[in-house]
Amino acid sequence: SDIGAQKNRVVAEEEWLQKWETHNIGFHKEQGHPLLQKYLSILLSGRSRLRIFFPLCGKAVDMKWLADMGHHVVGVEISEQALKEFFVEHSLPYSEEPVPEIPGAKKLQSTSGNISLYCCSIYDLSSSIVGKFDGFWDRGALVAVNPCDRQRYASLMITLMEENSSYLLVTASYDPNKHKGPPFYVPESEIKSLFG
Ligand code: SAH
Repeated sequence: SDIGAQKNRVVAEEEWLQKWETHNIGFHKEQGHPLLQKYLSILLSGRSRLRIFFPLCGKAVDMKWLADMGHHVVGVEISEQALKEFFVEHSLPYSEEPVPEIPGAKKLQSTSGNISLYCCSIYDLSSSIVGKFDGFWDRGALVAVNPCDRQRYASLMITLMEENSSYLLVTASYDPNKHKGPPFYVPESEIKSLFG
């Protein structure tokens, strides 16, 4: 099949912000993700108190679920509205502070300290700012990244990996000629070449 039609498509950050403003967020699920529940033991591999990263986190309810299990969750999301809705909808008090290394960025942190959400572009982050992670939940993230940015995105994720980290990735298999994306179609062969 031909992925050429999607290859040059670019969704601007402004379009994502607009989706949040107009509540055009069909990707958001009110229930925890069944695949995270199914593969949780692979993510954790028997370990407790992990640092778990949610790239392009939206207001995924799974962040609360993992934090309640004693893990430290870090997310990144360009929409401040999404992050505020996350805290409000879970009745979690939070505080806001600037991120000195990233002009204009904010860190929203639950008062209990175990959920830290960065409001900035994923491409502004580095391990010197957010540290490294034992676990990754990549749902609606790689598949939302513009195809031209995939290599940059994957390389960044690799720099955020702690030794022995686990990375759970959700993709969708479909005919890319029938839907312009996002989510974009990411063939398995490309996942192998991106992450090795
Ligand atoms: N992972 C979430 C959200 C998926 S939709 C879930 O599964 O529900 C993709 C999200 O990425 C949107 O909320 C969008 O605002 C955000 N986003 C898009 N580009 C981004 C970027 N460069 N940096 C950070 N967040 C981004």
